[in-house]
Amino acid sequence: MDFDTPLAEAWIRAIAAAVEKEHARLTELDSAIGDGDHGSNLRRGFAAALAALDGLHPDGPGAVLTRTGTTLISKVGGASGPLYGKAFRAIGAALPGPTAPAAVAEALSAGLDAVRLLGKAEPGDKTIVDAWTPAVAAFRAAAAGGADLPAAAATAADAAEQGARDTIPLQARKGRASYLGERSTGHQDPGATSTALLFRTLADVTTT
Ligand code: ADP
Ligand code: MG
Repeated sequence: MDFDTPLAEAWIRAIAAAVEKEHARLTELDSAIGDGDHGSNLRRGFAAALAALDGLHPDGPGAVLTRTGTTLISKVGGASGPLYGKAFRAIGAALPGPTAPAAVAEALSAGLDAVRLLGKAEPGDKTIVDAWTPAVAAFRAAAAGGADLPAAAATAADAAEQGARDTIPLQARKGRASYLGERSTGHQDPGATSTALLFRTLADVTTT
């Protein structure tokens, strides 16, 4: 199984559905250490991303993901809009046509690079990077070991969820949560949580 255009579309649809279901939890996490808009930011962004797929005649999976990234950048005002927007645009650029698992790992890695280039966060800063980094490592290792797309994506989703949980004791050093200093500890980072959602939905759509 390659990462192809129908899979890219299914992924964006699944993310929009997952965000619709989970937005209250994301917002609750952001209320604890931010300004309580992460769920509504992503809800607005992915609803718009879904609408932007209508009438799009993509010539490959990358076209779907690039359009999604552009939409997120234009529709989401919070930090997460540009960060996820750049990430999807970078993943899209790396997936011009149907792509095998090892190259999908590199595309997801390019997404992480885009997040880090824009946000300047290091692993351990309690951000999106803390879920995305272990997810890419897990995906890459699985693909290098011969795993197919569903297996690699499932391993990556597990790693992203673990990475999100591991943000709980961390003190935020980037984004709004960093303003809280030590008071940011003891809460799971909302962006790392939504990143885990992105990887879980990828695993879900590759297995159905
Ligand atoms: P805002 O902080 O502008 O309200 P959101 O609430 O939508 O935006 O997103 C907050 C999330 O964005 C945080 O939980 C964190 O994971 C992520 N984030 C913030 N700043 C950065 C950064 N510099 N690098 C990576 N992720 C970041
Ligand atoms: Mg916020």
